[in-house]
Amino acid sequence: MVPNLKNPKRANELVTVFIQALRPPPRLTIDEWADRYRILTPEASSEPGPWRTSRFPFTREIMRELSPQSPATEVVLMGGSQVAKSEIALNLQGYTIHYSPAPMLYAQKTIDAVKRYSKQRLAKMIEACPALRRKVKRAKSRDSENTQLVKNFPGGILILGGANSAASLRSMPMERLMLDEIDSFETDIDEEGDPVELAVRRTANFSRRKIYKVSTPAVKETSRIEPAFESGDQRYYLVPCPHCGFFQKVTWQHIKWERGQQGTARMVCEACKADIPERFKTQMLEAGKWVATHPGRKIVSFHLNALYSPLGFFSWVDAVSLWEKYLQRRDASLLKVFLNTVLGETWSAAGKTVDYTGLEARRETYAAPVPEGVLILTAGVDVQDDRLEMEVVGWGEHEQSWSIDYAVLWGDTEGTEVWADLDEYLAMTYKHEKGYALRIAGTAIDSGFRARKVYNFCAPREFRRIFPVKGQDGFGKALIDRPLRRNKEGVWLFMANVDEIKAKIYSQLSIVEPGPGYCHFPKGIMYDQRYFQGLTSEKLVDKLVNGKKRLVWELPSGKRNEPLDCRGLSISALNILNPRFEAIKNRGLAYGAVMPREARPKKRGVLSKGVEV
Ligand SMILES: [Zn+2]
Repeated sequence: MVPNLKNPKRANELVTVFIQALRPPPRLTIDEWADRYRILTPEASSEPGPWRTSRFPFTREIMRELSPQSPATEVVLMGGSQVAKSEIALNLQGYTIHYSPAPMLYAQKTIDAVKRYSKQRLAKMIEACPALRRKVKRAKSRDSENTQLVKNFPGGILILGGANSAASLRSMPMERLMLDEIDSFETDIDEEGDPVELAVRRTANFSRRKIYKVSTPAVKETSRIEPAFESGDQRYYLVPCPHCGFFQKVTWQHIKWERGQQGTARMVCEACKADIPERFKTQMLEAGKWVATHPGRKIVSFHLNALYSPLGFFSWVDAVSLWEKYLQRRDASLLKVFLNTVLGETWSAAGKTVDYTGLEARRETYAAPVPEGVLILTAGVDVQDDRLEMEVVGWGEHEQSWSIDYAVLWGDTEGTEVWADLDEYLAMTYKHEKGYALRIAGTAIDSGFRARKVYNFCAPREFRRIFPVKGQDGFGKALIDRPLRRNKEGVWLFMANVDEIKAKIYSQLSIVEPGPGYCHFPKGIMYDQRYFQGLTSEKLVDKLVNGKKRLVWELPSGKRNEPLDCRGLSISALNILNPRFEAIKNRGLAYGAVMPREARPKKRGVLSKGVEV
């Protein structure tokens, strides 16, 4: 390795790399270091005091592979929650700062997230461990050496980066790299490409580099951690049965319980079929061992679901409760949470379609224009060039919904007349089954087309909660992104994450029994075959976009999708309002009820901005 003297900065980097290559490996491994020096604080841990690797026996081998004594350069951990994933990262950071200095980069999905981490986790760890406190100078306001995003210590540096900022990832060569929760990372940042590739490139010069990728998996089609895990040797933690000694994985298939009696949750041994109560978990974890499915592969990869979480953290009873909650509501978002955080598996929405004929066949005759279960009305408006299409939807507890009214307002949307019609339409009231009239509580209008017209319409009607909403792609996000300020046209523009919203609609449409999430449709001329075909027109498919597999909603050519868009906009309006259904229900009066003056109850304020009762 000959330093290139024409580029002093580069030469300097190479010298650093060269010196580090000569360094003898340290004596302690990360787990040994943590057992000796790491202190958990009451703020950061439910079990304050000295760290004990024996409390999380499965973390020992992961930390050994991350230690300089192991030749592994890439270590992957895909797992559920409560299995000490972030503690392993903190131990590696502490080890590097105090005991085995090297340049190190730790990244989370955004700069803001990593700043919070720095303040709440890293700073607290340094503060609590005398060994670390001596190495890192306290961050002072004007101190450029140590900030929230840079920690200097003798012989090394820790840089904290955000996967949403290319600049924060390409600072300098890094011997150790930690990418935390990589399934939440963007795929392309600042037009400089993939943040993971960008960060990994920083480690290229180091023969003893360590790349630690860790995440709870998210959506299958866009997951980074799952392919990373699969490219490795795929180690699973096997534990012995306390009765017969047979080593096995702890999987959801092993957990049994009496339906409705979560306390009966137990594991059943796959060899002797005996019940294993959860109190045996501690001894089973202690006696457990990692076994690779593909031994010999260069990348070392571990899988851990939350069922391995030690006693006192996440229990089998907790897992069963979450599953029963899902069974009760049949809400796809709960299923996703269960798969991702409990089983440590990805969730896939691919290929989901709904048969429109079934929906058409289940139309009902409502007892009143607005049935009793409705607690709030929202409207969604789709803008075309020759018409506006809109739907009014009534929402009840647990987002059970009733389609109330679908309308097409014809007219040139560049002109003014059709907007005046819309204004009138949105001011209408609907008769509730309990006798009173109900106003539309909030409206979302698609501003993806004719943005200026939509802004002009919404701006003076903000007090009626009529907002422009613009769609954007992307899975794994909240349904609605709230703006921090008005846009330059002076309106509150909300961003709707249409991929997630459509997934939600499809999961609700596939519920077949009235109850949480179920969609009711009225018998009425607007709810005809055309409507249901439009509502179910799109299909979720795998597509190659810029050479990468992505999950996209596809509209077959010649099909119309306005009913689906209107429904998505109504959901957007509901999420902007974010009503407290329980409070509205307890009051016994739907939100937005228009009553004769003397009949109005005094209690107000069910939404943050209270308008009428
Ligand atoms: Zn057994």
